Amino acid sequence: MSHPKHHDHDHDHDHDHKPIESQQEPAGEERFLEQALRELLDEKGVVTAAQIAQQIDIQDSRTPALGAKVVAKAWVNPSFKQDLLAAPLETINKTFGLTINTPLELVVLENTPDVHNMVVCTLCSCYPRMLLGIPPAWYKSTDYRSRVVIEPRAVLKEFGAHISDETEIRVSDSTADVRYLVLPLRPQGTDMFTEAQLEALVTRDTMIGTAVPKLMES
Ligand code: FE
Repeated sequence: MSHPKHHDHDHDHDHDHKPIESQQEPAGEERFLEQALRELLDEKGVVTAAQIAQQIDIQDSRTPALGAKVVAKAWVNPSFKQDLLAAPLETINKTFGLTINTPLELVVLENTPDVHNMVVCTLCSCYPRMLLGIPPAWYKSTDYRSRVVIEPRAVLKEFGAHISDETEIRVSDSTADVRYLVLPLRPQGTDMFTEAQLEALVTRDTMIGTAVPKLMES
């Protein structure tokens, strides 16, 4: 076997950049500003503390586990998948008894053996919060936001995701109005899996496109 670890030599990426890592939490001053603004909005009757608390409850109920349910159902139920791709939020609300109510458009990007999708917001941190909750810190980092559009394959490699060189990588940039969810490929060897077992394979990163679902190593 000859140099199995090497890729093409005209590839100019040599890992001399900073790795993608989390940025710091907001400083004390930003936290203080948030509190002052929140109290002012309450005082002026713009939004009440109860409304804010309710929104926080709703936001807390949105976690990658919800996205995983959607993905697993799409894997096992072709007609659900068809509806999901055609009218994502409507279909999710109807199927899971939810009331996700947002002016944002959700677009589901289906991975195929030929196309692997990745999601970014190059301007800031737009993310399908209505389904996945709070984005990971690296998603908001300038490293990820700038590099994923320039060298998506290098970024995938750093995340440990193995995508064939034959597969096209498509990066979708979120906008103020549109949020994207990746529908990953169902792993091979899962024909006998139940929907619940499939859900467990769907991680947050597989729905951003920086990972692919994998069977647990035994
Ligand atoms: Fe954004």
